[in-house]
Amino acid sequence: MSLPPPTGLVDRYGRVARDLRVSLTDKCNLRCTYCMPAEGLPWLAGPQLLTDDEVVRLIRVAVCRLGVDEVRFTGGEPLIRPGLVGIVEAVAALEPRPRISLTTNGIGLDRLAPALRTAGLDRVNVSLDTLDRERFTRLTRRDRLADVLAGLAGAAAAGLTPVKINTVLMRGVNDDEAPALLRFALDHGYELRFIEQMPLDAQHGWDRAAMVTADEILATLRAAYDLDADPTERGTAPAETWLVDGGPARVGVIGTVTRPFCGDCDRTRLTADGQIRNCLFATDESDLRGALRAGADDEELARRWRAATLTKRAGHGIDDPSFLQPTRPMSAIGG
Ligand code: SAM
Repeated sequence: MSLPPPTGLVDRYGRVARDLRVSLTDKCNLRCTYCMPAEGLPWLAGPQLLTDDEVVRLIRVAVCRLGVDEVRFTGGEPLIRPGLVGIVEAVAALEPRPRISLTTNGIGLDRLAPALRTAGLDRVNVSLDTLDRERFTRLTRRDRLADVLAGLAGAAAAGLTPVKINTVLMRGVNDDEAPALLRFALDHGYELRFIEQMPLDAQHGWDRAAMVTADEILATLRAAYDLDADPTERGTAPAETWLVDGGPARVGVIGTVTRPFCGDCDRTRLTADGQIRNCLFATDESDLRGALRAGADDEELARRWRAATLTKRAGHGIDDPSFLQPTRPMSAIGG
């Protein structure tokens, strides 16, 4: 393993954050029932949002001074941010150039994928919880399954590969679809990842007992496919992966709740309003927007980011009796 840069984002447990998740907006064009209420949420006001230049400046600080080597754009829905292509282009021009990826619901990706690829985007994760149109419409409260499928195809055609699919399984909602979703992914050359549902919904309706666990997901898949442990080293990846029917195709499970991987976490997060979060489940944040707008230079911003990293907790603590769900929902943090 290479040594961290001396000025990197090191926490008190020696973990080094190199993977930056940047939320570009808290708004979304879907209303997934497990994420947002039908009426949406009180959105961040325009002046609270970082401008495109501010986003790029903070990413430059992370990449050029703090050792970040992977930048993932998310939200909300990042494809609805008007300046997205320009932001990707500016980040791809940084030295050293970070890997650049995007987590999206895929709507509009068929149109945007070529421009994003040209701008420097390396790959995408597209969220898809069902292949059934009616179920999709119920789950997301929008009749947009065809757009998501077109987005997946467009991403693959533009070379944003490997195209990964993120799926959240919910009991009695779509947990019967795991084998069919895997079949779909295998047939199209996409890599499927199942994500355990986490206590990050705006409605605070998460119920541990109702959650579909990693063990259950694997048992369901094993009824239809041979799964062998993937010999590739996992490193800091959140997904555990298995070879499907002898490989080379793989399937992953992100067991944040029942198989936590906090000890290997290398992530740091920047919200659309310029707050640093050292963990998805952090209950506090560090304001970089205020410092930036008050005239802080890059070294001062880097110093604040390092300080924000030092207080990262050893684990997310979902199983602790004292666990408190963060006030910000997933859509405003950036998944
Ligand atoms: N709009 C983009 C998308 O759909 O991928 C990016 C943001 S979305 C919040 C990122 C991912 O978080 C999606 O795959 C979504 O399914 C997942 N997600 C949302 N709420 C979740 C929860 N409570 N537990 C687990 N995953 C969740």
